[in-house]
Amino acid sequence: MGKPTGFMEIERQVAAERSPELRILDWGEFHEHMRVEDLQGQGARCMDCGVPFCHTGSLIAGMAAGCPINNLIPEWNDLVYRGHWREALDRLHKTNNFPEFTGRVCPAPCEGSCVLGINEPPVTIKSIECAIVDRGFEEGWIVPCPPASRTGKKVAVVGSGPAGLAAAAQLNKAGHSVTVYERDDRIGGLLMYGIPNMKLDKQFVQRRVDILEQEGIEFIANCEIGKDLPAEKLKHDFDAVVLCTGATRPRDLPIPGRELAGIHFAMDFLRPNTRSLLDSNLEDRNYISAKDKDVIVIGGGDTGTDCLGTSLRHGCKSLTNFEIVPQPPQERAAGNPWPQWPKIFRVDYGHEEAADRFGADPRVFEIETVEFTGDENGHVQSLKTTEVDWSRPVENGPPFSRVAGSERTFKADLVLLAMGFLGPESPVAEQLGVELDGRSNYRAEHEQYTTNVEGIFAAGDCRRGQSLVVWAINEGRGVARECDRYLMGATNLP
Ligand SMILES: Cc1cc2nc3c(=O)[nH]c(=O)nc-3n(C[C@H](O)[C@H](O)[C@H](O)COP(=O)(O)OP(=O)(O)OC[C@H]3O[C@@H](n4cnc5c(N)ncnc54)[C@H](O)[C@@H]3O)c2cc1C
Ligand code: SF4
Repeated sequence: MGKPTGFMEIERQVAAERSPELRILDWGEFHEHMRVEDLQGQGARCMDCGVPFCHTGSLIAGMAAGCPINNLIPEWNDLVYRGHWREALDRLHKTNNFPEFTGRVCPAPCEGSCVLGINEPPVTIKSIECAIVDRGFEEGWIVPCPPASRTGKKVAVVGSGPAGLAAAAQLNKAGHSVTVYERDDRIGGLLMYGIPNMKLDKQFVQRRVDILEQEGIEFIANCEIGKDLPAEKLKHDFDAVVLCTGATRPRDLPIPGRELAGIHFAMDFLRPNTRSLLDSNLEDRNYISAKDKDVIVIGGGDTGTDCLGTSLRHGCKSLTNFEIVPQPPQERAAGNPWPQWPKIFRVDYGHEEAADRFGADPRVFEIETVEFTGDENGHVQSLKTTEVDWSRPVENGPPFSRVAGSERTFKADLVLLAMGFLGPESPVAEQLGVELDGRSNYRAEHEQYTTNVEGIFAAGDCRRGQSLVVWAINEGRGVARECDRYLMGATNLP
């Protein structure tokens, strides 16, 4: 602990963001870096706790409390305070293969359970993490490190999201020959085609993929296992197969009018947008445009927020975001004490931008869409809604009831469904004989990752359901460890 009185003297400061007014005019990242002196001051706020809850990574009340990959946070806070950036980077890479991703997109459960957060604003952990790794790249400290020798074992990884990339990185480090198959045209999973460029610049995803390739991992894009290549062939050609196919089946809203044109799943809006941006700076027009449209996004979370930010950058006419849940409180509720993840009202980048552009937060809480209505051309024109009351659950029905007389009509000519995901698509599982669990994910225990088929492992969102990048890294590292143990009889992987 560099400065024993740091937490008493220095106030919390977070990285600045570009002004909403200007940043919606382009697709560049919205966060900026803090000055080195400020970062050191923030590092000095860390108390180097005897029991540092920031890095516990346990599930409390179903949510992550502390860092799920057990980042050595107090150690690198101290190293940054002292100006030992290279050592801080080494500590960071010990537990996290891709800090440049988590440093940008993680909701930071570490900060939610930081001990200082009991009675003061928590340590600025996420900004420090991002600054350490960005400096590592700037200084040229992060270079390809291929393994010294090979084991002769071959592993296929299906899916190139953060789980697949972390698994591949660790298995390659252990000396196995790894081939990653990806059905999309670019590598990265939701890092590439889910999270938009303004939150995570795609050049940073590609930069890491290039390093992994130089370390000896083979990437095969445009290859859907189960379609372009039978899953059975992987079993035959490789010593082990790791499934990291993500949870890509979107939840639908099967109400009257759902068949109307202009109603899309969020990923059918976000993915082509990023592809078109990368292919042609949006000039090929191969995306759904929100320009001059009244847009309604149904569902919140990261996906809903990304639809808001993307619609604004297209130049939408109006923007509304429906949330069926009640508005969270401004402060922790009595039933949500530290170190649990604080379930409080948050203003994410898309909300802030919408408020700046249209004068008010776009969210409407406790609202249910009951019907879409269309024009004479079969295009969506409006949404009929009703308010819901969570204090009056319906017996043997939903945990809320509709409020009589609260019906409203909202004009819309583009509707985006961002209501979560229902597990992985299953052709691969079917072809391999892999069992699904009750939530239609691939059945495998956390920390074990073995499916019912010998030599076939599963990790990431396809195993745990749609989650977070940091959990995907946790699972990718874990599955690599268990796969290495299976192949070699013992493992040194963490
Ligand atoms: C729009 C959006 C925004 C998000 N924002 C955030 C955020 O800000 N912060 C955060 O922490 N989390 C966020 N998440 C969640 C996070 O992205 C995921 O939890 C994480 O990417 C899961 O990693 P994964 O590797 O398990 O799966 P994915 O990233 O989904 O990758 C799976 C890959 O497998 C490929 N694949 C599937 N089937 C096959 C097949 N048969 N053959 C070959 N390839 C196949 C897919 O094309 C995909 O590329 C967001 C999710 C979405 C949808
Ligand atoms: S819990 Fe907070 S104050 Fe304590 S060691 Fe972790 S970051 Fe530092």
